[in-house]
Amino acid sequence: MTTSATLQEKLSRLGIRNELDLVLHLPLRYEDETHLFPIRDAPHGPMVQVEGDIVHTEVVMRPKRQLVCRIEDSSGDLTIRFLNFYASQIKILATEKRVRLLGEIRTGFYGAEMVHPKYRIVRIGEALAEAMTPVYPVTAGLTQRTLSKLIRQALTELQQQLLSETLPDSIRQHYDLAGFHQSLLYLHFPPPEAPVKALQARTHPAWRRIKFDELLAQQLSMRFHYRQRRKRTAPALSQRQCLVRQFLSRLDFTLTDAQQKACDEIARDLALPYPMQRLLQGDVGSGKTIVAAIAALQAIENGYQAAFMAPTEILAEQHQQKLSCWFEPLGIRVAWLTGSQRKKNKKAVLTEVALGAAPLVIGTHAIFQDQVIFQRLGLIIIDEQHRFGVQQRLALRMKATQSDQVPHQLMMTATPIPRTLSMSYFADLDISVIDKPPPGRSPVITKLIASNRRNEVIERIQHACRLGKQVYWVCPLIEESEVLQLQAAQETYETLRTVFPELSLGLLHGRLPPPEKNDVMTRFKQGEIQLLVATTVIEVGVDVPNASLMVIENAEHMGLSQLHQLRGRVGRGTEASICILMFQQPLSEVSRKRLKIIFEHTDGFEIARQDLLLRGPGELLGARQSGIPMLRFADLERDVDLIAAAQMVANELLDAYPEMAQQHMARWLGDKSEFLRV
Ligand code: ADP
Ligand code: MG
Repeated sequence: MTTSATLQEKLSRLGIRNELDLVLHLPLRYEDETHLFPIRDAPHGPMVQVEGDIVHTEVVMRPKRQLVCRIEDSSGDLTIRFLNFYASQIKILATEKRVRLLGEIRTGFYGAEMVHPKYRIVRIGEALAEAMTPVYPVTAGLTQRTLSKLIRQALTELQQQLLSETLPDSIRQHYDLAGFHQSLLYLHFPPPEAPVKALQARTHPAWRRIKFDELLAQQLSMRFHYRQRRKRTAPALSQRQCLVRQFLSRLDFTLTDAQQKACDEIARDLALPYPMQRLLQGDVGSGKTIVAAIAALQAIENGYQAAFMAPTEILAEQHQQKLSCWFEPLGIRVAWLTGSQRKKNKKAVLTEVALGAAPLVIGTHAIFQDQVIFQRLGLIIIDEQHRFGVQQRLALRMKATQSDQVPHQLMMTATPIPRTLSMSYFADLDISVIDKPPPGRSPVITKLIASNRRNEVIERIQHACRLGKQVYWVCPLIEESEVLQLQAAQETYETLRTVFPELSLGLLHGRLPPPEKNDVMTRFKQGEIQLLVATTVIEVGVDVPNASLMVIENAEHMGLSQLHQLRGRVGRGTEASICILMFQQPLSEVSRKRLKIIFEHTDGFEIARQDLLLRGPGELLGARQSGIPMLRFADLERDVDLIAAAQMVANELLDAYPEMAQQHMARWLGDKSEFLRV
């Protein structure tokens, strides 16, 4: 690019590094400068263009220093106001005669007015724009005009080959897709007759082509890497089902149909000689752990080891307890690895793992540290996968490779993934869903209580404890600082101790040394602690069926999926459970919406869908987000038909037109397509 260093720097702030990026930098919206409204007829609200003579200009001081200017045409008059302005602007508006304005008219202090309109000095009868004017995302010091010029230049200078068609004619015809190059030209330089609405709403065929291409690139890269990984070999773990049957016969419940279906899908994958890449999703409490346990048994009965990784020590500890309980009667030793373990103890475990004496290893991130060497790792289970970065997953997968084999991988998440999201951002995985909870659960009743009605909450707690139930009190979330968070938890604990002198309380937070953490959890599980004051560390996985009341303080600060996860800690027994969301008034608009959603819905899928609508895919992607190219043009909700089409075309291209597929990925993803390597 022949641009000065500073221009280059500004462009790179917009993510533009080369000509191709420039031509893919598409308008945010369009302005209609093709039409002039008589002032009196101009609609209030939308962007309109009007023109008139300047009749008065002055700087007024009240209520605030501002430049006020009146213009009129033959139909009426209009005030324009600038709160920020240069001296040069005063001069121009005071001396020139006629001005053309683009802005939104509202009724204000001075009657009909425009605040900060786009304006241009014109002569009478000056020509109107012939076509819609694109408005690009810009950055400080870079004008629309400069950007537009650069884009035009790039479009004409770019080698034809760089903009060539990446879809075979047959596919374009079948899916009724406009040409790529033509679509770009159309969106950057819409012709005079272009339909305004379709351009603005991005439903025009030119937009559809661009959105399709973007989605196709995403599908291609995900499916490409999925296929690459499938080319590697993994141990074929045959479905002997001997241990599994033994295990199931000892359980005091039977698997639900949904669990059985997930188990079957996993068992089939494990029996294949290439690595499983499966995500098991199921709402909180849907019973994923046992499905994972059954998968582990299949590895173990084939003479392989399984590793089970959880994101927090508390969760890992719970899995350890549960799985030991399940497995030790079968003569299967469960080893335990965490960061906080004593050196000597750890060394012994490492030896067991290396010798294969521990068929199942449970732990935190510590599992994939360098010293951990498995004798024969056949399966990796990752709980709450959205909390782990891609890199961490890769590290584990890599280090497990001794021979040319890689282990199978089962990831689990309690964050339900809306369909459009799993079709797009999760297209590199096979997905199993547990869509129904085990029977006998009673739904959780959610109550919203303003913090000034704290007394009511206190009474409820006393009442619940008198009935022998247990209670969680979740402390406010303070995102900026862990220290403050800790302090708040400590203070809440002290306060509640004076409020409830008759109850036994416990405090649980992330910074507690692990032995103490375990101690608190054990005492809570055994019913010794009646009221557990906790930070959001209990969000994942904690499972104490007798706890049937939860109070969440300052719930308005928490995200939807977090609230849903927290609430999932109660309602695990047969007792009717209550979750009280306390909030501080006044509520912001977003907080009000969030609380309304969590109040009205208990189904995690619906909550996730609403979250997606409210905030986009970030939260639901978790750690994935950092590794995956985000969509710029396509919209998961509105363009679901395009996602489905892109999915089919991706497979077709990879099978029959691999070169076009590569070219397409290079165009849209550049080096970002590396994110899923291995
Ligand atoms: P999650 O999917 O949130 O990880 P868990 O695996 O912790 O859920 O299961 C929640 C609770 O449900 C556990 O106490 C578990 O033992 C129990 N559970 C799992 N499957 C069943 C079933 N089929 N019938 C009855 N209870 C079950
Ligand atoms: Mg779980």
